[in-house]
Amino acid sequence: MLADFISYLIFGNHCKYCGELIPFGETLCNECETDLPRITGEKCKLCGAGKDRCSCKKTKMRYDGICAPFYYEKTIETAIRKYKFADKPYIAKVLATDMAETVKADFADIKFDFIDYIPFSKSQNKKRKYNPAGEIAKEMSKILGIPVCNVLTKPFETETQHISGAFYRKGNVAGAYDTLDNMDLQGKTVLLVDDIKTTGSTLNECARVLKIAGAERVYCAVAALTAKEKTKEKQ
Ligand SMILES: [Zn+2]
Ligand SMILES: [Zn+2]
Repeated sequence: MLADFISYLIFGNHCKYCGELIPFGETLCNECETDLPRITGEKCKLCGAGKDRCSCKKTKMRYDGICAPFYYEKTIETAIRKYKFADKPYIAKVLATDMAETVKADFADIKFDFIDYIPFSKSQNKKRKYNPAGEIAKEMSKILGIPVCNVLTKPFETETQHISGAFYRKGNVAGAYDTLDNMDLQGKTVLLVDDIKTTGSTLNECARVLKIAGAERVYCAVAALTAKEKTKEKQ
């Protein structure tokens, strides 16, 4: 606590999502606090959205479940954009802390053998300073005490997800991912980590190849997911 106060005197205290200066002892600025798009209430186990915003129509995926602390909007969308594209790696720890809490709550009965994350291809690795999913996975590993084992690989290039349309996105990941050679994942339960889930096709494909390599169950954890707000019926 004293160390925190000394650090406050030197560096000030910053909102954990947007970085604004805030009073000592607080973790969020007022704006982030009111705009935090937390997923609350009963959740759909298949898509991770709140039951009030689920529109997955119970579509079965290759993974066995998914959880996320937030919707990809407002404060969290801004924070993740900064994290991914403005070289703000410290946000990984903030997101990982929220994700770890959600994993503990939503997957309380599940014993994970290891954490894996959505890998980059060679050219993505060259272009970017860090893999956002990889940094989050490392931080979650520290909090949850589960080792990271990156058995997933991405031998083929695909279009960047956020610039290609949903229609194209659905098909463009099939066959893009693989696992390291001679990996025997027989009977293993994997926690698969990524930053955002939109259609879920990347997580689905990675879960598929992990299962081909023998994994018995694959559960996903993402920082945020997209889910349309249902328009309220007119009274
Ligand atoms: Zn803030
Ligand atoms: Zn759903």
